[in-house]
Amino acid sequence: MKVTTRRSFFQYMAILGLVTFSATPLFAKGTKEKYLYQESPKDGNKCSMCMHFIAKTNKCKLVKGSISPEGWCASFFKKP
Ligand code: SF4
Repeated sequence: MKVTTRRSFFQYMAILGLVTFSATPLFAKGTKEKYLYQESPKDGNKCSMCMHFIAKTNKCKLVKGSISPEGWCASFFKKP
């Protein structure tokens, strides 16, 4: 795309913004340290009881990497 006029410059920038926005995940996972993850339950709560736990893969929707079903983090949210 050749940018020759002020109008084409703004069109170019709008398209670039849309492409960047659509290619960037709205929600990126965080590290275990960020979520204060620990390998043991806390107050009887553990990952296997959490809404964010993916049982098939032992992964979390929020925390990067593998986690233990017996673990816990600060974003624990009990399944209804
Ligand atoms: S307690 Fe934390 S690490 Fe465990 S599944 Fe829930 S959000 Fe993920």
